[in-house]
Amino acid sequence: MADQDNTLRVLIAGAGIAGLATAISLRRISGLSNVDVQIYEQAPELLEIGASIALSPNGMRTLEKLGVNSALTDEVGFRGPSGIPQIFRHWKTDQVISVDTHTDVPDPRHHTTRFHRGHLHAALLEHVPRNIIHLNKRVKRAEATHDGVSLHFEDGSSAHGHVLIGADGIRSPVRQSFIPDYKLRFSGKVFMRATFDASLVEGKIPDLPLDSMHWWGPRDNFFASRLGKGQYTTVGAYDDPRTAEEIERSISWNSKGNVEFLRERYKNWNPTVWALTQHTPSTNLYPNFAGDALPTWVFGSRVTLIGDAAHAHGGAFAAGGSLALDDALALGLAFKHVINSSTGLEYSLEKIRRALALYSKTRQPHTARLLRIVHNQIEQRTSTATSFEEEDAALVARMKKRPNTEWLSEHDVEAAFKAALNESETEEHLEQTLSLGDGSKAEAPFEETLQLRRSKI
Ligand SMILES: Cc1cc2nc3c(=O)[nH]c(=O)nc-3n(C[C@H](O)[C@H](O)[C@H](O)COP(=O)(O)OP(=O)(O)OC[C@H]3O[C@@H](n4cnc5c(N)ncnc54)[C@H](O)[C@@H]3O)c2cc1C
Repeated sequence: MADQDNTLRVLIAGAGIAGLATAISLRRISGLSNVDVQIYEQAPELLEIGASIALSPNGMRTLEKLGVNSALTDEVGFRGPSGIPQIFRHWKTDQVISVDTHTDVPDPRHHTTRFHRGHLHAALLEHVPRNIIHLNKRVKRAEATHDGVSLHFEDGSSAHGHVLIGADGIRSPVRQSFIPDYKLRFSGKVFMRATFDASLVEGKIPDLPLDSMHWWGPRDNFFASRLGKGQYTTVGAYDDPRTAEEIERSISWNSKGNVEFLRERYKNWNPTVWALTQHTPSTNLYPNFAGDALPTWVFGSRVTLIGDAAHAHGGAFAAGGSLALDDALALGLAFKHVINSSTGLEYSLEKIRRALALYSKTRQPHTARLLRIVHNQIEQRTSTATSFEEEDAALVARMKKRPNTEWLSEHDVEAAFKAALNESETEEHLEQTLSLGDGSKAEAPFEETLQLRRSKI
């Protein structure tokens, strides 16, 4: 049910990578001529914050499909000169133990690219009209009724529409409104990230590799890479034995760290890592949380989630940016298919439901596979080695046996969408033929979702 002029009003919570990409996809990919997209963001300003973010070939291809071409240039992002996405080295000996590779990425612009998150965000922002982004709007809760959706903000105001997309990150209040008992789990790691001018290290550290490097140690890793626009990043980590609740109380996301702590922690590593920590001017802290796969991505036939809100994978395999972009493209494709393939211009609840179910069918199994790996890794973190030699042998074996993640980094979201579509059409056909009920649909039915929510309040 749309407005009298048949405009579909879509509310997006969050103007991060997923929120902006969704706005672009709905405006460009969906082909909906009468769609009114409004974005609500808690931040008072859209600043270039965050540290480094990587996009793998799937994310780079999707950026191009969304028309965000400036982010494909060598100026904004960095691709290693060897064409290798990432080189894995031993923490002490500095020996190369293994490398990531691209399998089917003929266009070098689609090779794994590393950005300052702010620069990627700014590239997306160029394609979103500023007057549809409402800042200082911190979502407190979300609601869906038969007639529409609402966002309620901490300043006491509300926004209403026909469809709601929760793109409000790993702690999504939209998700919590529909699944109130959803909990994140602390992985035990806190990341220390830094981005700074590359001139602070280039020419200052002998034999500094040109490619992106990942040194693995028995417990912690260290990552270093050039980024676009002459920036450089270093990322270290430490184990924190505290509980999720204690971490939440004491370390906020993106808070200032202590660079001396980073230097102390990596002082016995090889000379390149040691020198990189000495030249790193400051660090910010990012406690690493992850959550289980969600039982459904569609609530009340009008609400869905996108990006980290939908799959709280905690940054594993540096996949978050690419997944968010692919989610956004899949959502645009789903609306395009449902609206174009049905008669009548009206955006009925049934059409919205079908588009969201198709989106979820395309993306949910893919991200659930990643979440299974993430949670297995969190559980298997304790080492059983009894000597340095044993520990080192186990480390080298682990580095050599790194799981192949090509299914993730070269995922073809359009092919996945077509497969989901074929499957849905076959299911619908079967349902019609056998006159079955709709028990196999990918969403929680509207009434059931509301009951779930009410029962938890
Ligand atoms: C400030 C910041 C810095 C980051 N830095 C890095 C980094 O250095 N490296 C990296 O790999 N990943 C980083 N990430 C995470 C990364 O951007 C995501 O994993 C990935 O890009 C998926 O994006 P997303 O849009 O789903 O989530 P996010 O990028 O987290 O975006 C969520 C958006 O929703 C907004 N939001 C959250 N709660 C509310 C609310 N209650 N009301 C309204 N708006 C809300 C947030 O302010 C944010 O703009 C960062 C995220 C943020 C928010």
